[in-house]
Amino acid sequence: MELNFKLKDYEEIVGQEALSELAFLGEKVGKRRVLHINSTREGGGVAEILHRLIPLLNELGVEARWEVMEGRTEFFEVTKAFHNALQGQELSFSQDMLDTYLITNHDNARRIDLDADLIMVHDPQPAAMVRHRDKDQKWVWRCHIDLSHPHPKLWNYLGAYISKYDASVFHMAKFTQKLDIPQFVITPSIDPLTEKNREMSKAEIRTICDRLGIKRDKPLIVQISRFDLHKDPLGVIKAFLMVKRHIDCRLVLAGGGAVDDPEGAEVLTQIREAAQGNPDIYVLELPAGSDLEINAIQRAASVVVQKSLREGFGLTVTEAMWKGKPVIGGATGGIALQIENHFNGYLVHSLEGAAYRLRYVLSRPALMRRLGRNGREFVRRNFLITRSVRDHLLLALAMDRPGESTITI
Ligand code: UDP
Repeated sequence: MELNFKLKDYEEIVGQEALSELAFLGEKVGKRRVLHINSTREGGGVAEILHRLIPLLNELGVEARWEVMEGRTEFFEVTKAFHNALQGQELSFSQDMLDTYLITNHDNARRIDLDADLIMVHDPQPAAMVRHRDKDQKWVWRCHIDLSHPHPKLWNYLGAYISKYDASVFHMAKFTQKLDIPQFVITPSIDPLTEKNREMSKAEIRTICDRLGIKRDKPLIVQISRFDLHKDPLGVIKAFLMVKRHIDCRLVLAGGGAVDDPEGAEVLTQIREAAQGNPDIYVLELPAGSDLEINAIQRAASVVVQKSLREGFGLTVTEAMWKGKPVIGGATGGIALQIENHFNGYLVHSLEGAAYRLRYVLSRPALMRRLGRNGREFVRRNFLITRSVRDHLLLALAMDRPGESTITI
């Protein structure tokens, strides 16, 4: 469903001053034509942000649009392998894979209307489209993954394309690589007004949970994420089984696939096998656009888990905190940027650690409430969409004067 919120609708949450700042910056950026390119319209954090960022930039007078690259299954298999290897996995890649990658990038560069002043290319999938840049344009590569330990040969190959950009943007300083172009940090954000994050009545939560077959007679532990081994769903099941020996509770593992992730079905099969025969584990396959369902499940949770082994940012952590939930997350990537031990949740390094913290939190209701309150305020201050809009406007301005930016790292 397309949502048509205006900036003034955010005033109650972020305050008038934040909105005035956006109006000021929007005027400065003016009618610049900004094009965002990524590789999936639905599923995953990048699509999630772009759905909201574009209309808000438009409202501020910036001519922003969003194009999605197209590719065959082979292409997405190659880029998924790239994605894993850039986050540290082994990979032996062939010339065929590189050809598939380049040809698809080339085809998309011809298909997509690249007429814009500033082009932001998200992640490695469309990165090689920069070969088709016009010299009067500014091209920015927006990396959403942890590039701190990339497969050296692959990074050598892709890095050559990245160096053709005018600048790069990362979620965190420690995700970056040495590059000879300016680097910026912009953390992701969530939109508090969308179906996924808006307030919900108890009755609505109940109705949706009933429809999904989720019983709420015991505390619920929830992890929502794509079915991806990096999210460690099997580790979550093991941790849950340890907790379950002491506290009667249920686990919800809910998620779906993304068009650019062909491994999901295989991982889902493994999860179903691990959960088989246990009536307290719900494995729910969510179709694209299940925003209300995700909202209700997160709100029904006693504790939210995001036990990722590697993570770009972990929007699901932000979403859960916004709903006032304590979050137990893997101490990796952007999760470590969001969770502070004893303040809004706990970072864990192992499944035993996850089980320990789950028990700790579940047996302390007052602590759960305090962690949840702190998490919500932390997100309000740092990770709402209005802050992303501001950073993108600042970036557009910085691209005119790269040397003068204050957010260069
Ligand atoms: N998500 C979704 N459907 C699913 C699984 C996840 O809409 O079946 C959403 C989730 O609520 C979050 C985003 O996709 O907004 C996932 O972002 P995150 O940064 O947690 O992980 P990524 O998928 O980008 O690795």
